[in-house]
Amino acid sequence: MLSERAKRIKPSPTLSIDAKAKAMKAEGVDIVSFGVGEPDFDTPENIKEAAIKAIKEGFTKYTPVGGIDPLKDAIIEKFKKDNNLNYKREEIIVSCGAKHSLYNIAQALFNPGDEVLIPSPYWVSYPDQVMLNDAIPVFVKTYGSDSFMVRPEVVESHITKKTKALILNSPSNPTGLIYDKKTLEKIAEVVLRYGVFVISDEIYEKLTYDGLKHVSIASLDNEIKAKTIVVNGLSKSFAMTGWRIGFAAGQREIIKAMTNIQSQSTSNPTSIAQKAAIEALTGPQDFITMMLAEFDRRRRLLISELNSIPGMSCLTPTGAFYAFPNTSKLYGKSIGDRTILSSSDLSLYLLEEAKVALVHGEAFGDDDYIRLSYATSINEVKKGVDRIREAVNRLS
Ligand code: PMP
Ligand code: GLU
Repeated sequence: MLSERAKRIKPSPTLSIDAKAKAMKAEGVDIVSFGVGEPDFDTPENIKEAAIKAIKEGFTKYTPVGGIDPLKDAIIEKFKKDNNLNYKREEIIVSCGAKHSLYNIAQALFNPGDEVLIPSPYWVSYPDQVMLNDAIPVFVKTYGSDSFMVRPEVVESHITKKTKALILNSPSNPTGLIYDKKTLEKIAEVVLRYGVFVISDEIYEKLTYDGLKHVSIASLDNEIKAKTIVVNGLSKSFAMTGWRIGFAAGQREIIKAMTNIQSQSTSNPTSIAQKAAIEALTGPQDFITMMLAEFDRRRRLLISELNSIPGMSCLTPTGAFYAFPNTSKLYGKSIGDRTILSSSDLSLYLLEEAKVALVHGEAFGDDDYIRLSYATSINEVKKGVDRIREAVNRLS
C-alpha cells in the first residue's frame, strides 16, 4: 500500500525517545530526561506579547508564502550583524522550522540518484530527508581525535560525479563541537573545485562557550556564499521550538524553488509566529546571554561528572547543548543475564534501570557513543548523572 519512499524512512529517533520519556513521566515514573534537544526555558515574555498583540490585531490570515517582508528584513539584518553576510529579500525564505527549510532544500536541489555527503555523527533527520527525496546519503566518518570535524581531504575522496551537496552542521548536534575557520576554508576550496553545494545548518550558532564564536562558511567569500544555502531558526536561541519558525538564505533561484514548493505544500509559516519572530530578532537579546550562562554551568558539571564514570570519556563540547561521551568500553559488560553490546542496549538499560532517558549514538551514525542533552535544570543534571554512575557501576 505504502510508497517505496515512505517505506524507506523511520520516525525521528530523538522525537520518539522524547515521546517515550514524556509518556513514562505522565504515568508517574520519575524520569530524568537528557533526551530531546529542546531548551527547558520558557519563551521570553516580550516575544509572547508580540504574538498576543498580533492575534488581538487580527493578524491571523494567510501571509506571503515565504514570510512577511518585515520578518525577512529582520533576518537580513541578523545575517549582516552576526555573520557579515548580505542578502536581499528574494534570497530569504521563512519556513515552519529549520527542519522544514532543510526539507525544502532537499526537494529543490536533489534528483534521484544524487549523492549527498553527510559527516557522521550527524543529526538524525539529514539521511532520512535525503532519502525522502530519492537521493543517496553518503556518510563521511569523523573522529573524536579530530574534534569530529570532517577532514577536507576525506570530503574530497568521497566526491563523485553524482555528488550534489555537503551538509555541514556547526555547532554540531550531536557532538557539540564547532568548525574552525581554517578547516572551513579548506572545505570551501574542495567543494568549489567540484561544484558541490553546501547546506550549512547553523541553528546552534548563538550557543557557543569558552569565548569561541561561530563562523558561517558562507561568509568566507562570495564564491562559496553563492554555493551555500544557510539554514537557521529560532527554536534553540529563543526557546521557541513549538512556534515553528526557521529560515534559509541562498541563491535567488534556489529560494524561489523552495518558495514554490512551500506554496504547494504548507503555505506560509504561522502568521502570529512570524510576528513573534520579528520581536525575537529585533528586541532585547539578554535572554540568550542568561540561557547561555546557565547552559555553561550545566555543561561544566555534566562533562566532568561523565568523565569520572569508569568506562566513559567525553570531549568538552564548545557549542550547542549536548554531551556525546564515548561508551564503547562498557560494551561487553553484563548484569544478570543482560549484556550491553551497543549504544541501544546501554540507553535501554539506563532508561529501564536508572530511569534516565538519553539517545543511543547509533541514531546519529556512531554506535560507540550516547548523546545527552543538558537542556534540563542543573538539579536534574546532578540527579541524572548520579543515576547513570550507579547503574554503570553495577555492570561487570
Ligand atoms: N538542525 C539541527 C542540527 C537540529 O538539532 C534541529 C533540532 N530540532 C533542527 C535543525 C530543527 O529545528 P527546528 O525545526 O525546530 O527549527
Ligand atoms: N533537534 C532536536 C534533537 O536532536 C529536536 C528533535 C528533532 O527535531 O528531531 O533532539
